[in-house]
Amino acid sequence: MKKIFAANWKLFKTPQETRAFFQAFKEVANKATGDLVFFPSALCLEAASNSLQGTKIQFGAQNCFSQVQGAFTGENSAQTAKDMGAQYILIGHSERRQIFGETDAMIADKVALVQSLGLIPLLCIGETLNERESKHTYRILETQLQLGLAKADKAKPLVVAYEPVWAIGTGKVATQEQVAETHTDVQTILKGLGFSAPILYGGSVKPDNAAGLISQPHVSGFLVGGASLEVDSFIKIASV
Ligand code: PEP
Repeated sequence: MKKIFAANWKLFKTPQETRAFFQAFKEVANKATGDLVFFPSALCLEAASNSLQGTKIQFGAQNCFSQVQGAFTGENSAQTAKDMGAQYILIGHSERRQIFGETDAMIADKVALVQSLGLIPLLCIGETLNERESKHTYRILETQLQLGLAKADKAKPLVVAYEPVWAIGTGKVATQEQVAETHTDVQTILKGLGFSAPILYGGSVKPDNAAGLISQPHVSGFLVGGASLEVDSFIKIASV
């Protein structure tokens, strides 16, 4: 199966910086060994859409509301992202769960909406350090998948990102053994629920650890935060 290299830009880059990034990135994008998907902040989606026209590089929004329109001040519509050319929506990132109080029930509604629009949900799951140290990782991931996929369509495309919360933006990458073990668990849980989906790893992926991580079982690619902001580091990761 083709690998997926996804970039989560969080709340970084202006439209001008987005255009400049893609101008340079398009020169090297052919080195990538899998599909490329960028998640710019919502106000930069138009700049991304314009910059990526005529390329195979895909993009999506970092979040959406669970309805396509209505009196929901400040929210973003997956339908609007689709109209702009988006193919993916990132759902349930740990920053959404922790900072903005997103629950598994809210996430389930978003996954269902995104699939119903013909977009691909990239569902993020992951345990905290405390949960890992208390040996609750399997149960936490199982719950997040069970509840987050409660309204999902098994016949429609889905991508899952396993992102241990303690490894996001901390520089503390999971070991190859932890990634191998946990991705195998995620694959088993998904199968038990009747889903089949590529499983990306996310959490302090850098050019120097990408090759070791991608060779672990059931690792179908990466979701990259910090190291995706620079052309050079992201293309090094995407060409492993
Ligand atoms: C992320 O934001 O999904 C992420 C994995 O960030 P970082 O690569 O910076 O840890």
